[in-house]
Amino acid sequence: CGITGYIGFREAYPIVVKGLERLEYRGYDSAGIMMFDGENIQISKTKGKVADLKKITDSEESRKKGTIGIGHTRWATHGVPNDINSHPHSSMSGDLVIVHNGIIENYDTLKKELITRGYVFQSDTDTEVLVNLIEEVKKQEGCKLGKAVQIALNQVIGAYAIAVFDKTKPNEIVVARLGSPIAIGIGKDNKEFFVASDASPFIEYTKEAIYLEDEEMAIIKLDKGIRVRKIKDDSLVVTNIQKLQL
Ligand code: GLU
Repeated sequence: CGITGYIGFREAYPIVVKGLERLEYRGYDSAGIMMFDGENIQISKTKGKVADLKKITDSEESRKKGTIGIGHTRWATHGVPNDINSHPHSSMSGDLVIVHNGIIENYDTLKKELITRGYVFQSDTDTEVLVNLIEEVKKQEGCKLGKAVQIALNQVIGAYAIAVFDKTKPNEIVVARLGSPIAIGIGKDNKEFFVASDASPFIEYTKEAIYLEDEEMAIIKLDKGIRVRKIKDDSLVVTNIQKLQL
């Protein structure tokens, strides 16, 4: 159970995969990665180790392309460990992609509601419910990703660390935390950002990080930087940039 991600100007794949390897100590049963090359989303995922994931990505160069990526190691709670239940999960439209650590306790109620609205599910995970809930909120409210994540999380009972990507707004990643850690690394000249369960995946790139507190979310935009807000009441949080020690 770990999350890594990168948005910036470097090739994201080596950063994200090396990050997953550094988080291996946390324990997991499956691993996966989403890459965005500016046009297309590529998801590679599998039951097993990061080494098994690399066999898949090594088979096709396009699976590694792009300067935006998010990765995940899964510790299954809802749905057995298999390829389909592995993260990342995408929304029904294919626009949104999520990685999630934790548990959505009311996923069953939410899932039934989404099914009556026409949603179809591929996996048995609580996570796929959350990404489709975000999609539905976005559609209903006509709002941006950050707002949709916030509204959706206020309907959720459970614990989470999440990172969400939206293909229609590909210059940002939204992360949120309740009960499971998220660190955001601020990279070179404020032009690249890292996200991870702890700072070990990005320590060689930056010594500056923001650690989200419970019930906080961050909208990380390539051109505008990081905005942290309270999930409950949308109030802006004054962030504390920590200096990381080696
Ligand atoms: N509840 C999610 C699942 O079973 C996430 C598990 C995790 O923390 O890795 O897929």
